[in-house]
Amino acid sequence: MACLREPAPEPGTFISAAPGIGRIVAANPGAMTYHGTNTWLLQSNNEFYVIDPGPNIDAHLAALRAALAGRLTAILLTHRHADHAAAAPLLAAIFGAPIAAFAGATDIPLADGTQLGPFTAWHTPGHAADHLCFALADGTVFTGDHVMGWSTSVIPPPPEGDMSAYMRSLARLRGQGFRAFLPGHGPAIGAPDAWLGRLLAHRERRESAILACLAKAPLIEAQLARLMYPALAPDLARPAAMTLNAHLLKLQAEGRVVCNDGLWIATTKAPHP
Ligand SMILES: [Zn+2]
Repeated sequence: MACLREPAPEPGTFISAAPGIGRIVAANPGAMTYHGTNTWLLQSNNEFYVIDPGPNIDAHLAALRAALAGRLTAILLTHRHADHAAAAPLLAAIFGAPIAAFAGATDIPLADGTQLGPFTAWHTPGHAADHLCFALADGTVFTGDHVMGWSTSVIPPPPEGDMSAYMRSLARLRGQGFRAFLPGHGPAIGAPDAWLGRLLAHRERRESAILACLAKAPLIEAQLARLMYPALAPDLARPAAMTLNAHLLKLQAEGRVVCNDGLWIATTKAPHP
């Protein structure tokens, strides 16, 4: 699907997105991270928040320290992948600030619906089991890796990821009156409901294509991957294989495919043309 692009932001520079909200992009560009991780900063009255401190890169931490100028109320994590969370303990130690993240061992455990300062946490499992989005009252949502504009999300198979949960988490954010999504990588998304619709349609098309392939002939996963992703860059082969596996496990749970000795078989026949 067509994705949103932006010129590479200057690493370490504060980029304003709205009054009181801006980001500093870390210098960790890559096939999975686009220009780098967006570390979001938010000022609300006299409180200062960081969402996803990002990777542990000295220059990034220095830029965050300079932008925060000694003020940090709390650190929020959308999820614990290293490109979002590795710098969190360091930033927390520098400022003596608590870390808020989904359940588990953390200073402020968050769950679906938890309020923290101006944020409401939405539990959005799929890309990661611990994934949260953070919504503000004005309809701005920090969406981490759950919803991005520059790329679709990698969905690992359970227990870390879950395709069924991911699609439910997408559908759940629709129709909530959200006005803008600020993702963990890449540019802001200005029409959230339309974008969520496109992401859901993309996954549904992918499922239909998988079922159409398997209805013609049972295949092992590597064969199916070659048919589904015929011209894939080598560094995307592993995430694509994980996401394909997550799709197959969802279809298996729904009884639409079965797996016999590594061979995936559609349980319904291909429609005749
Ligand atoms: Zn991630």
